[in-house]
Amino acid sequence: MLLYIHVPFCRTKCAYCAFASQEYIEESVSVYLRLVQQELEIRSRQLRRRKVSSIYIGGGTPTVLPFASMSRIVDAVYKHFDPVPGCEFTLEANPENILEMADLQAFSSMGVNRISLGVQSLDDRLLYTLQRGHDSRQAIKAARKIRQADFAALSLDLIWSLPGQTLQGWMAELAHAVQLAPDHLSCYGLSLEPGTRLSAGIQSGELKLPDERTQTGMYVHGAHYLESCGFLQYEISNFARMGFRCKHNLGYWAGESFLGAGPSSVSTMDGLRWQNPSAICDYQALGEKNFSDLEFERLSHSRKINELVMLSLRTSRGLNLKDYKQLKGECFSRRYAGVIQALHQNSLIRMAHGYLSLTRNGMLVSDSILEKFME
Ligand code: SF4
Repeated sequence: MLLYIHVPFCRTKCAYCAFASQEYIEESVSVYLRLVQQELEIRSRQLRRRKVSSIYIGGGTPTVLPFASMSRIVDAVYKHFDPVPGCEFTLEANPENILEMADLQAFSSMGVNRISLGVQSLDDRLLYTLQRGHDSRQAIKAARKIRQADFAALSLDLIWSLPGQTLQGWMAELAHAVQLAPDHLSCYGLSLEPGTRLSAGIQSGELKLPDERTQTGMYVHGAHYLESCGFLQYEISNFARMGFRCKHNLGYWAGESFLGAGPSSVSTMDGLRWQNPSAICDYQALGEKNFSDLEFERLSHSRKINELVMLSLRTSRGLNLKDYKQLKGECFSRRYAGVIQALHQNSLIRMAHGYLSLTRNGMLVSDSILEKFME
């Protein structure tokens, strides 16, 4: 089982952010800490202390929590769940929060073995547009410190297709990121979320996205460059050196059971799915009812098929056609023969060794391809 813990606090709100995050307020943090420990205890009892193959603390900004608060969460995890040997333990961190070696040693002493650093850009002009809480100097310093500390893996998050970003600029950012010696890179195309300041800036014409040709170049040349540096693409947005693919993400895409704790977190266990409310007050109300007053959705057969197709086609490995046939009782290539032929003629998909997968150009337009394969 995969375990995800959501820490919903951030010091400030970034211009593009639509994640469940809220202002860091002491009272809310102490309510949250009490509840998340209670939730872990209750779920552990319900799940008979299931073993965990991955622990992921994400947010929000987990590293805004002081060490003592983070310790309380981690202690609760170890008290109520048993990590398997070699369990991956990822902590999402923001550069401005982990500039001191002492902080990093503290995280390492808790068992964290993988840091996912929210760099987003190494260009100060773009970081300003994103209204991040750090500059490129802090991001570089944090990445170097993490490398000096005792962590098995470092992952960097970057965003492409930002307003004002050029193809040359993006390639320079990637080259700079590679110099920081990460093991893993997540490169996300900017997703414009309605209601965000960035989205309003684009709508008003104050900011301008790179044109489509530039965006395509960023994705295709960027992926090609990373592969030439030894980072294999294993998912639409994820690249890793050999042996450093993220186990947590892989488990999620493979449809493993996952338990989420904390506001807004989603869980899927044994065919049942539920989601915690996002607001702390609603999360508190749920806690008062022992985390039982939730809508539990039993995943329908067609939902399971859609998720198998959607999640596995995100990966470079692709969809195992045997798995599909077993679940659906029908051959995928026969069912979608016309679509497959058209996509294949346009070099957007490939089929080999019993797997159907998207080519790099296919990954670039994955949303519209996946739509065609939904039940
Ligand atoms: S740090 Fe992450 S979660 Fe927090 S506001 Fe920025 S993008 Fe959103």
